Amino acid sequence: MKVIESVAQMQEESESLRRAGNVISLVPTMGFLHKGHLELMRVAKEHSDKMVMSLFINPTQFGPSEDFEAYPRDTEGDLEKAQSIGADVVFMPVVEEMYPESSQTSVRVERVTRHLCGLSRLGHFDGVTTVVTKLFNCTKPHVAVFGQKDYQQLAVIRRMVMDLDMDIRIIGIPIIREPDGLAMSSRNSYLDPDERKSALWLKKSLELAEKMYYEGTTDAGRIKAAVALLIQSQALIDIDYISLCDPVTLEETKTLRDETLLALAVRVGQTRLIDNCLIRKRGKISKP
Ligand code: AMP
Repeated sequence: MKVIESVAQMQEESESLRRAGNVISLVPTMGFLHKGHLELMRVAKEHSDKMVMSLFINPTQFGPSEDFEAYPRDTEGDLEKAQSIGADVVFMPVVEEMYPESSQTSVRVERVTRHLCGLSRLGHFDGVTTVVTKLFNCTKPHVAVFGQKDYQQLAVIRRMVMDLDMDIRIIGIPIIREPDGLAMSSRNSYLDPDERKSALWLKKSLELAEKMYYEGTTDAGRIKAAVALLIQSQALIDIDYISLCDPVTLEETKTLRDETLLALAVRVGQTRLIDNCLIRKRGKISKP
């Protein structure tokens, strides 16, 4: 496994892999890898000859009061995990090279960023789309793999790739969960034991919403109220948003039809957690 820090070296490596006829996949991560990340890499390998994982905690997607400094880091452990899953290259650029002071360009996706996390994390998605574009330009992948855990991020990147005619296939991977249902996240490491227990109510509230839909409730307001009530029964959790929305545009839905996204963001103590599920008619299969 090659570990590359420099942008020019990464571009050279990808160029020569391409010239040799390889299909390149990219799995962008911010490190502190867990089984969710490993699943992304496993799928990326299935779809390519050479898999590149990027490891970069991108400062521009964190707000001034967010956890950039505190974000968990374990480079050595991450490299071991990447090697064990069979990554061919780990690209870990440094902030100074990714964002020199002379840099003046950013990539912005408009409407789909104006919902959900876009409302409470101003500028976050501009940071995401800019860094993902840069990572694409550094690693030149044919395929890139993202998790549905960050559902809006995936929707925004799909939109960006379409709008900017990027010749990259985007693959979305279902949420990987702990055995008790908590969606895996690097930020789970912030939770103390009581907060960890409270965090389980996210998954429970997704299940409640699904149950209500299958029992015939299609009124989004009623489902959201029931979900809010359930979450508010937990003293340690504060709701940021509960949204029932269109899975592509992310616009709020009043009435659930064939397929609706339920997306949640909460704060458990100081830790911001997100979770989501697609609520869909039984038997309906959507594109990964
Ligand atoms: P991060 O390192 O948190 O930026 O995540 C890197 C990639 O892993 C993103 O595409 C995430 O959506 C994905 N990811 C993170 N956690 C999970 C999970 N529990 N299941 C599936 N994908 C995940």
